[in-house]
Amino acid sequence: MSVIDKIHQDRFDTPKTPFALDIEDLSNFEYDMQHCIKCKGCYWVDHTYMPGMENAVRCPSNLWKEFDSYGAFGKMRIGLHLLNGELEWSDHLLELIYADPLCGACDVGCKRNLDLETGLTLEALRVKAVQDGAGPMPGQKKVIANIRETGNIYGASASRHSWMTEEIRVAEKADTVYFPGCLSSYQKKELAQSTAMLLNRSGIDFMLLPEESCCGNVAFSVGDIAAAREIAMKNVEKMRNTGAKTLVVSCAECYRMWKVDYPKLLKIRTADLGFEVKHIIEAAHDAWQEGKLSLRNPVNLQITYHDSCGVSRLCDDWEPYEGERGWMGTIEPGLTRRRGRQGLYQITRELLENIPGLELKEMQRTRENALCCAGGRGTSFDFPELSAFSATERLREAESTGAEVLVTACPWCVSNFDSVKPEEDPFEIADIAQILLKAAGQEGGTV
Ligand code: SF4
Repeated sequence: MSVIDKIHQDRFDTPKTPFALDIEDLSNFEYDMQHCIKCKGCYWVDHTYMPGMENAVRCPSNLWKEFDSYGAFGKMRIGLHLLNGELEWSDHLLELIYADPLCGACDVGCKRNLDLETGLTLEALRVKAVQDGAGPMPGQKKVIANIRETGNIYGASASRHSWMTEEIRVAEKADTVYFPGCLSSYQKKELAQSTAMLLNRSGIDFMLLPEESCCGNVAFSVGDIAAAREIAMKNVEKMRNTGAKTLVVSCAECYRMWKVDYPKLLKIRTADLGFEVKHIIEAAHDAWQEGKLSLRNPVNLQITYHDSCGVSRLCDDWEPYEGERGWMGTIEPGLTRRRGRQGLYQITRELLENIPGLELKEMQRTRENALCCAGGRGTSFDFPELSAFSATERLREAESTGAEVLVTACPWCVSNFDSVKPEEDPFEIADIAQILLKAAGQEGGTV
């Protein structure tokens, strides 16, 4: 038999195996874990984008510990050995799996060379940790218990709506629902206020979700699928019952949760949610393009912009996939890979660059290559040192641009950066809603 005939025969003889993008079964990602070639594309930002070594790393966890097991390439091997029953859970193994903000940087890095599902594999590893009775971490368990008892991550008994002020107009019934999320409802209230005022300024009537509660981001991110699904079902039902067409959020974690992970949990497409999920960046951009939001007030600041993971590489629409894998790893039917292309990269910059007086000074790690601050996805509850380390590293990069203000699009990022910035440092942290509101001629925060 000729070599060509042999190849053809192999192609037809190789048995096909089922393959699904389903994080509830780690074996769906066995091929991905087996075929990680340890090239470290998940660790380094491509050299074509990076002029030097100073900001060349994309993975916060591996930068923190400088040990392969903390990087995606290490965890791909750990996952394989867990799956084969060759490894048992231990405290240290749990630390390796959970000391990670699941920021998606490894996933977009890996998919530049190979089409491995690195991000979903890391999510599936956490689901397995919970399925095996080992995970999540103690602090994360407490947060999930708080959500169950009080509907918020803090276990607070106070109203979620104490951020509201008399000047904010909220409708009883509207086509748009504003969902501020736990952090802006309880801690960074000025961000919820700025967003609500920006919606008012944009002529967008909005209501709040009846019996509003947490989006469940922490439960999902740490692998507690049962708790996260229960929250997803309740929230989606509440939203559908309002009859509103659009849900606006101001938190990047809530955005990713509603737009990507609720459909993932409910095994539906993002398009089938029954309503559109928009970050305030998108709502403001639409209003600005329609001439309803004017950004003519000068904002005389030099700023740099931090692409929060949830509004950048992690927000591509979700679409369930089931197929078969065959010869040489080929899969049928064809799969549209999620590569972080739907991130709100350009519209954010379009808004900022159209504000008179404002100068945008980009960092080297930007858009899908941005370094995560490591404040979200449950990380800060059990690994505050990692959150502080990555935020400090990102602040260093931000300040090196010569900007006066770091602008971001998520209260988790704002809060994490605030917590590491020395008090005497005049460099400021702001949310994009605060900047846009100022450009619209209204003060809405400290900037
Ligand atoms: S980029 Fe992908 S293949 Fe390369 S080491 Fe990382 S996980 Fe493995």
